[in-house]
Amino acid sequence: MYPLPPRSVAIVLGTRPELVKLTDLVRLLGPAAHLVHTGQHYDDELSGRFLTELGLPEPTFLTGVGGQSRAVQISAALAQLDGLFAAEPPLAVVVQGDTNAALAGALAANARGIPLLHVEAGLRSHDRDMPEEHNRVLIDHISDVLCAATEDNRAGLLAEGVDDARIAVTGNTVVEAVRNQLPDADRRAALLDRYGLTADGYVLATVHRPENTDSPEALRAILTELGALATPGRPVLLPLHPRTRARIEAARLTHLLAPLTVSAPVGYGEFLALARHAALLVSDSGGIQEECTVLGRPLVVVRRSTERPEAMGDFAELVEPGPGIGRAARRRLAEGAEGLDRLAALPSPFGDGLASERIAGLLTAIGAREQLTAAA
Ligand code: UDP
Repeated sequence: MYPLPPRSVAIVLGTRPELVKLTDLVRLLGPAAHLVHTGQHYDDELSGRFLTELGLPEPTFLTGVGGQSRAVQISAALAQLDGLFAAEPPLAVVVQGDTNAALAGALAANARGIPLLHVEAGLRSHDRDMPEEHNRVLIDHISDVLCAATEDNRAGLLAEGVDDARIAVTGNTVVEAVRNQLPDADRRAALLDRYGLTADGYVLATVHRPENTDSPEALRAILTELGALATPGRPVLLPLHPRTRARIEAARLTHLLAPLTVSAPVGYGEFLALARHAALLVSDSGGIQEECTVLGRPLVVVRRSTERPEAMGDFAELVEPGPGIGRAARRRLAEGAEGLDRLAALPSPFGDGLASERIAGLLTAIGAREQLTAAA
């Protein structure tokens, strides 16, 4: 369907959300996709298991990146990518989102004059304390093709002076990721049974952003609020990110986990199934702000800012760590079945499930143009 030579599109990634959001594109590209994993997320819980679960091909792995400072993550990956692109020049490079892996991939493509396509372009939190904000601004301004998820993302890019000809509004690939990876109703029911959960009868939470985990006060406030939401009839599930677990132990806050149902991070399908039937989600994740709109579940976002305003209002609301979490959560929970039915009937503002197909089409056009130029 997409006649690109084998391994001609380098897809540079390094974290869980990138694996999730690029799976459908990789599948559509087939043998043309060459996955390059920087190792930014190096634990099996956040990466290895996801590669297998999502059916992704074996990537080329870079070394010496995971667990390093931001500058070393970027520079170590950049040096290795440059060697890789010199040895095996791709027709195009794809990066997704705002990670250090994505910035390294973008810089490596730019340095070698290889066309660069950015999936999920144009997001802005306007919070300059977030490294991700700097990553996404830098990536957008050197990208050749910017795949904006929404018209608002496109408008933001135009306001920054990006040429309209470089922007394509494709939708966000998360919509098809959720649709394709959500287990069917029978498997979801079996999963809830295994967890001893009732549909609409529990809260699902995740916390991993540095602004929440690096501050013991914020971490204490979040865990205290989550603990207060848990009742014998309404458990609060917390699949714990390794970074958060380490920070909780370092801040001596382990006792605050007692009222919560804590587990290791779960696989993507399992997470979606749990999210699909949660009465409420509480999270600081970027991806979950999008996923909640496809699953039709309410979300309390524990952050100072968001780069996804499209989700706010109907589906989600933004609160800072503190008593606002409990207030927002109780208000949402009080809406009950009526509130859940209302959300289920709303379309996702992030797209129609065809973003990956549009992006594959754009890559085919770039590939054809590059091959013609090379032949001339
Ligand atoms: N996720 C998962 N298992 C978990 C927790 C989250 O599969 O135990 C998924 C979640 O559905 C989302 C992604 O991981 O797609 C979010 O990753 P993360 O929160 O690390 O990054 P962010 O979205 O904030 O960039």
